[in-house]
This record gives sequence, structure tokens and C-alpha cells, in this order.
Amino acid sequence: MGNCSKPPRVVLLGKQGAGKGTQAARLADHYGTVHLSTGDLFRAQAAQGTAFGLEAKRYMDSGDLVPDEIVMGVIEECLAPGGPLDDGFVLDGFPRTVPQAIDLDRVLGARPLDLVIDLEVPKEIVLDRIAGRRVCENCQTVYHVNMPPSHNWTCDKCGGNVRQRDDDTEEAVERRLELYERETVPIIDYYREQGLVIMVDGFGNGDEVFERLVKVIDDRMQA
Ligand code: ADP
Repeated sequence: MGNCSKPPRVVLLGKQGAGKGTQAARLADHYGTVHLSTGDLFRAQAAQGTAFGLEAKRYMDSGDLVPDEIVMGVIEECLAPGGPLDDGFVLDGFPRTVPQAIDLDRVLGARPLDLVIDLEVPKEIVLDRIAGRRVCENCQTVYHVNMPPSHNWTCDKCGGNVRQRDDDTEEAVERRLELYERETVPIIDYYREQGLVIMVDGFGNGDEVFERLVKVIDDRMQA
């Protein structure tokens, strides 16, 4: 638990491979709050073969965004008052378009965001990270070919199978980065007008980046 009494309501933005997923999980753990990754949620649904999951997978595998109405249909309930996100959250991968950001504000209503963090990492570095990225298909823990699990591509946390994501192909990555610039970067201006954006340097090892994130969140929560 951090040294602030109320769990924060944070949106983490950053390019593919910026380290959002790893850091969001650590932050949620640190603040005793919920980590919501729409990508993880969609992959889990796809693995279970639900109608929604299979539809989402078609978009995901080609690097396209899942349409806004479909995304909102799935997560609106989660965000609504009385839902699992009442006691703070770290959102990872949502919102990803301006209409989603507007919808999020509407659903949050009287419980607005505390801050939006833009985790900055240069493109050359994210390309390298994504090329070597391997993910547990069960619990979504992220590894890298240079830092694999201890036993034969079996997840250290849950024993699941660790493999490359279906959308970590060169073409899909290119497409996702292009869509990030076009659809997600405009969100930063949207939130900047609300005075919510803080940039954090995402370059460096995981512990260093984590400390930077905790510092900006604690500063904001104590302000
Ligand atoms: P990445 O940030 O590397 O693309 P994610 O796991 O966050 O990885 O997302 C994987 C895919 O899931 C995206 O490429 C997209 O197809 C879909 N997706 C996840 N979140 C959203 C969202 N908020 N809106 C639309 N599509 C989404």
C-alpha cells in the first residue's frame, strides 16, 4: 500500500511495448487496487471461445482496434458505480480513442480520474521489446527472450504456457503503432485540458520505472 489513504484512479497510456502491462500490474498490487487491461480481458475471452472473444480476436490479430461500441459494451458494467472499480484502479489499454475517453468520463461521473500517466519510450526500444516479448497465455505475465521463465517456457507464476502473442507479428505491430499515434495520442490533449497528464520516462529497468510512477502518483494523491 502506498502512503496515501485513498487508492488512486489512474489511466496509464504508452505505446505498445512501453511496459504498461507490467507496470500496471505492479502498481495495482502496490496500491491494493484493481488492474484492468482490456487487452488481457479480450485475450482471455478469445481463449475461452466466447462469441465476443472470437469477434475481438479478428481485430486483434490484424493489429486493428476493437470498435468502440463493442469495447464499451464489455467494460461499462465493470466501470459503473457499485462495480469492481469503486476502490480505485489502474487502467491499461483503455481508453484508447477519444470517444472511449469521453465515455469513461461519463461513466465515472462524480468519481473522476486522479491522473493520466503517459509512459514515454522511444520507438526503437519498443520495437526491440516487442520482438522478444513472450507472454503467459494463462495469466498474461510478460517475459522476454533474454529473461525467460526458469523452466522451459512454463510461467513462473502459474505454470501456464509462455509463448509469443498472435498479434506480435511485424505487420500487426506496425499497424498497432500507427493506430496508437492516430487514435490514442489525441487522448493526451483531451486529458491535458483537464490538467490530468503527467509524463514519465519509461526508459530504464522495471524497478526504476516503477519508482518514478509511484512518486508521481503519491505526489498527485497528496496534493
Ligand atoms: P498493445 O497495447 O500491445 O496493443 P493490448 O493487450 O493492450 O496490447 O491490446 C491488444 C489488442 O486488443 C489491441 O491491438 C486491440 O485490438 C485490442 N484492444 C485492447 N484494448 C482496446 C481498446 N480500449 N479499444 C479497442 N481495442 C482494444
